[in-house]
Amino acid sequence: MNDQQKMENIVSLAKRRGFIYPGSDVYGGLSGTWDFGPLGVTLKRNIMQLWWKMFVEERDDMYGVDAAILMNQKVWQASGHVATFTDPLVEDEVTHLRYRADHLLKDAGYSVDGLSLADMTKLIRDNNVKSPAGNDLSDVRTFNMMFKTTVGPVEDESSVSYLRPETAQGIFTNYKNVLDSFYPDLPFGLAQQGKAFRNEISPRDFIFRSREFEQMEIEYFVDPTKWEESFEHWRKQVWAWTTALGLPTESVHELEVPENDRAHYSKRTIDFEFDFPIGREELLGLAYRTDFDLGNIQRESGKNMEYTIKGTNNKFVPHVIEPSFGVERAVMAVLSSAYTEDEVNGEKRIFLKLPEHLAPVKLAVSPLLKNKPELVEKARAIYADLKKKYGAVMWDDNGNIGKRYRRQDEIGTPKCIVVDFTTLEDGTVTVRDRDTTEQKRVQPSEL
Ligand code: ATP
Repeated sequence: MNDQQKMENIVSLAKRRGFIYPGSDVYGGLSGTWDFGPLGVTLKRNIMQLWWKMFVEERDDMYGVDAAILMNQKVWQASGHVATFTDPLVEDEVTHLRYRADHLLKDAGYSVDGLSLADMTKLIRDNNVKSPAGNDLSDVRTFNMMFKTTVGPVEDESSVSYLRPETAQGIFTNYKNVLDSFYPDLPFGLAQQGKAFRNEISPRDFIFRSREFEQMEIEYFVDPTKWEESFEHWRKQVWAWTTALGLPTESVHELEVPENDRAHYSKRTIDFEFDFPIGREELLGLAYRTDFDLGNIQRESGKNMEYTIKGTNNKFVPHVIEPSFGVERAVMAVLSSAYTEDEVNGEKRIFLKLPEHLAPVKLAVSPLLKNKPELVEKARAIYADLKKKYGAVMWDDNGNIGKRYRRQDEIGTPKCIVVDFTTLEDGTVTVRDRDTTEQKRVQPSEL
């Protein structure tokens, strides 16, 4: 199985088994949107809850927020998004389809690091780079990726708003509120999870690049003289996170982003890349954003963003370390490292080797035969008991036992429990392990 096949198999399994469907599928879809089905939403929530537990609940220097998606347009003017949140766009002169110029050039084997729009246009002209349809390309120009809308019944410049393209600004705009409510010691952080929207020029690669997705972001406010130690702290935390997701260490790579590729306000950025089946690509980012955002807010709002060190007159606008995590990319990394094919009794088997704490279904309970009321009754009782204890337990009596195992393997259920005639005699059930397919008899109380 090569990487492309693997990707296709994952997309197909995700749809077939109720993890992820194309958005608005029944009407022919809407490019760049995906819907999470019953198992996908649980997997996604397990990942998001794990993050919240690790980075908010288990720490005493972190505060959660949940800001509105629609924000005053001044937020996006001050942050620079209105002027510069752009990607380089190029158009096929014949079909008028539009593409990301940097992606086309990279796909054609050219390096685009640090190139301006004019440089990219020149590279296209000098090397006669064509569109995927083989046609000439326009000059490269910028395209702003924010979705624009208006708030309220009057459509004019003053009612313009945007669907947020990142959750970070909803954190910065609440920095002062949290400071006034809690006055935490420095360093401290604010965390937020939620939807972000980007009008990507060419969404692609399953959920990797979508137009609507979720982020989990932290803005960690620090004394400017101590930013390096906090950066190192978060760098280690990011590794703790990829380990908690069960991603193999050798598939995660740090990319120290060179200065001419960094956002202009960032003094240091590390992209954490993952070996996805689509190639080595960004999973999440860690950036030192200086006082760029709070400085902008202070200037544009006229409100003081300084932090005063308790018991002193020492005040300054804190600097910020930002670990920024994409939920869909985490889901895709987890799915692609879990996807496994092997052979059992001469037959090909597909299973998701999901870490137990992320698996959407932890246990499946079946009666061996569904037309034997005494087995069904006993299995139902065990199911009810386990469901009360663990929640994520599935009742499965569809098809024969082999089919049930195959289905549960495909959705990554770590253990299947079968109630059979021996259960009626001695109370034991069969427990079958997803990864080894080994079966053991145990008392339900030992589960
Ligand atoms: P890329 O270079 O891949 O476009 P980015 O550098 O623009 O990503 P950031 O602005 O740093 O991404 O966003 C932080 C995180 O949000 C990314 O690391 C990624 O996990 C996630 N993310 C960004 N854009 C998308 C998208 N279009 N679809 C899914 N996740 C995304």
